[in-house]
Amino acid sequence: MKTSIIGFPRVGELRELKFATEKYFRKEITADELETTGKELRKKHWQLLVDQGIDFIPSGDFSFFDTTLDTAVLLNLVPKKYKELELSPLETYFALARGYQGEAGDVTALAMKKWFNTNYHYMVPEIDDETELQLVGSTLVDTFKEAKTLGIKTRPTILGPFTLLKLATYQGQKGAEDFYQAAISAYSQLFTELSKEECEWLQIDEPALVLDLTQEESKQFKTLYQALLAEKGDLNILVQTYFGDVRDVYQELVDLPFDGIGLDFVEGRKTLELVEKYGFPKDKLLFAGIINGKNIWANDYQKSLALIEKLQSAGEIVLNTSCSLLHVPFTLKNETSLGVDVTNHFAFAVEKLAEINNVKKINEDKYLHQALLEKNISLFKQERYIKNEQLAEKIERLTEDDFVRRPVLVERAAIQKDKLNLPILPTTTIGSFPQTKEVKQNRAKFKKGEITEAEYTAFNQEKIAECVAFQEEIGLDVLVHGEFERNDMVEYFGESLDGYLFTEKAWVQSYGTRCVKPPIIWGDVSRSNPMTVSYSKYAQSLTDKPMKGMLTGPVTILNWSFPREDISLKESTLQLALAIQEEVLDLEANGIEIIQIDEAALREKLPLRQSDWHSEYLDWAIPAFRLVHSKVQPTTQIHTHMCYSEFADIIRDIDNMDADVISFEASRSNLTILDALKAIDFQTQVGPGVYDIHSPRVPLVEEIEKTIHNILKKLPVEKVWVNPDCGLKTRGVTETHASLRNLVLAAKQVRGGI
Ligand code: GLN
Ligand code: ZN
Repeated sequence: MKTSIIGFPRVGELRELKFATEKYFRKEITADELETTGKELRKKHWQLLVDQGIDFIPSGDFSFFDTTLDTAVLLNLVPKKYKELELSPLETYFALARGYQGEAGDVTALAMKKWFNTNYHYMVPEIDDETELQLVGSTLVDTFKEAKTLGIKTRPTILGPFTLLKLATYQGQKGAEDFYQAAISAYSQLFTELSKEECEWLQIDEPALVLDLTQEESKQFKTLYQALLAEKGDLNILVQTYFGDVRDVYQELVDLPFDGIGLDFVEGRKTLELVEKYGFPKDKLLFAGIINGKNIWANDYQKSLALIEKLQSAGEIVLNTSCSLLHVPFTLKNETSLGVDVTNHFAFAVEKLAEINNVKKINEDKYLHQALLEKNISLFKQERYIKNEQLAEKIERLTEDDFVRRPVLVERAAIQKDKLNLPILPTTTIGSFPQTKEVKQNRAKFKKGEITEAEYTAFNQEKIAECVAFQEEIGLDVLVHGEFERNDMVEYFGESLDGYLFTEKAWVQSYGTRCVKPPIIWGDVSRSNPMTVSYSKYAQSLTDKPMKGMLTGPVTILNWSFPREDISLKESTLQLALAIQEEVLDLEANGIEIIQIDEAALREKLPLRQSDWHSEYLDWAIPAFRLVHSKVQPTTQIHTHMCYSEFADIIRDIDNMDADVISFEASRSNLTILDALKAIDFQTQVGPGVYDIHSPRVPLVEEIEKTIHNILKKLPVEKVWVNPDCGLKTRGVTETHASLRNLVLAAKQVRGGI
């Protein structure tokens, strides 16, 4: 049995690529120096794969920003406005990725979107009627040659035409199909060039095949590849899928003359069934995605071996990862604070290579490698953590009633109106205020033990007092404390909850040079102490206006953590929901009358197939949110906030969260959300963001007024709140103050006219 991986993390063991790229952006190093870093990293990563005996080593999975963008650039999908800048190829590339402002001109970046069901983001290729899709670069061939010079035979990888053209946006009349012919020529030219270099295999990624596809689309795929594969000559083509199963195109896939087909046995719930039911052609290699490329838990060898056994009848298989290892951290080697009894249970990218090697060896000779197997078996037999029996019982005892808040929304709205006595179009913010250098320093010093807890708290209280005074001065209606104690909205809660683990260097690329370090859910999650009460209570003591308590919701906490694999996501989410519920009730008991429970990442784990949305996800995720607030008094107003994604298609489910008020990120999407709200007669009060906080630009009073008027064309005035579209933590103080002043003035103007 041969072994393979789909792709490897490119940012480097210690995020070397990130730092080098950022230095290049700041003009501290030259383009050549950046290229050198890239070259060194590629070499190091290939060598790691060689050392672990991986047979199929990818090249072309490296990228200075994003591989979808690489493919787009390679195929000339570069809109005119970027070409007109007449920059060097590397500069043009970064202009597409991040925008450009300088002597050559002023262009914004391409749009960025979430890559399927991951927290990685890709650049969306932009195509218009003038676009000429053709092979214009040689990067893929060049990196293949680069590896060859090092004595390493690689398998280049590229995003396939079906997915590429499906993910692109179209500015003109033409659509994906209009570019198929050009794509066939371009890819076949690439085949020729690779063959010339004695390349044996090319991996073509087609993750779009795991989406819901219409019969029409499956047919398009077939037609496209029939033509394309006729051109492949001696080159072996592996079509690689991941993030799910290919139930809508399985037959087409096995009928086409591919040399290898990569299927995902981890996330593809129906993959095994498809192979068993319809068979797998003997003349093709099955690249079996068995080692989880997305999660960080050690592989259960017995399970993998059993699966391999089942696949024997399918002919020759290649042991593969389920997706690119891009989605897991680099190595466990640098985690010095977690003991081996903990790290033994994990496998990051480098350790996954060893797992592949081990599973292969054991599969070849169980007796010779018995010790390896025994060790793995005992790992899974171990009692990893002490189960929280009480919590399990509590979850067991939950009834329908626990997920329903009473009285119903309309009745609560009337009660809260009397109690809170807010003006129409109440103004508020989403929670965080600018995280200045001093704010960050204060946290860092405390973490390092350079200041006492009393000093740390005193500083935060001072910031809170300033923040409250400012909000009072400009006349906001519902105030916040500013979140100066929080690094980010998940880590802060993870650190205060039992059951969480934190890593030091376990970074995962989110987009470009941005990496995130998700905490790990290790055991049962519970709350032993209040997490936010003291700061909220303090802030409330400074003002007569309502102070909004700020929490992160259970679904978002789960979605931005590495989840457990030994219990269901639903179970983990319910544990988190009960912990946050305790916090909600504590805030309420301490005089906080408005509590916001953020669900910024609600959509993150929404299944890729719409038919699975409810049964696999929303049917427990939405109730989990309701569980958090179902026990509060009718007078307590529950807010929630969402951003970074499209909501229109799950708008009913969002209404079913049964919050009293919801704020949305909306200003960048041109308020299209409003039509969706209107269409379903959305019940919850709404604060569609009235200005974009991702830009330092200060919105004018008239602009905000106009936006509010636009909102009021679609929504009844008694349901509308006025707020920015997300937290302000990444903004500077001056622009924030100016923007909020204008926001309040605009709301007052509109009120005056009603
Ligand atoms: N309350 C959080 C903040 O204001 C919300 C952040 C978010 O939505 N991403 O920072
Ligand atoms: Zn937000």
